[in-house]
Amino acid sequence: MMNEKDKSVSGNKIDVSKIYNGENKEIAFDFELAPENLDKMDFSFEKPPAVRGRAYEKARGKGKTDSYVGLEFEITGRYLTHCARCCADIEKDLLISKEYDLVKKTESENEDIIEVPENTLDIEELAYTVFYLELPFRVLCKEDCKGLCATCGKNLNEGPCTCKKDKGTNSLAELKKLLDN
Ligand SMILES: [Zn+2]
Ligand SMILES: [Zn+2]
Repeated sequence: MMNEKDKSVSGNKIDVSKIYNGENKEIAFDFELAPENLDKMDFSFEKPPAVRGRAYEKARGKGKTDSYVGLEFEITGRYLTHCARCCADIEKDLLISKEYDLVKKTESENEDIIEVPENTLDIEELAYTVFYLELPFRVLCKEDCKGLCATCGKNLNEGPCTCKKDKGTNSLAELKKLLDN
């Protein structure tokens, strides 16, 4: 069950103190990202990527203020980009799913554990970080995309080109011809 959008969500920060002390079972959030520089990365989104998720009580602690707090969210959207090998247009769904533990203090380097010393988490900052990290670095139109011929530029997915296969032999032959002349 979702809590009404309450005082626990203020701006883009969520206050998880009420989950720690058992007053709230969960804090839901739902907002959109407006990422910059996507054109430089060759991505465009039909609609702003959406972030939806919650911080919630994972388990009740023994004491009054030590519940285990979990955080889970999804970032979804649909993007346009180009194949890294053949430049074909690609339209794809983005789905990023994340789960974390929120703790007051940790020595752990585990990146699934987030420290919230003041019980406050900037969920928007986290969502942007995750978004940029998880956006695919290279998108291919298909796993075995053959790409473009480096010599003539033909899309090799549409069939072989007429360039000589063995470029080593080819250039050697050309060199010989040059020397012969
Ligand atoms: Zn391709
Ligand atoms: Zn070619």
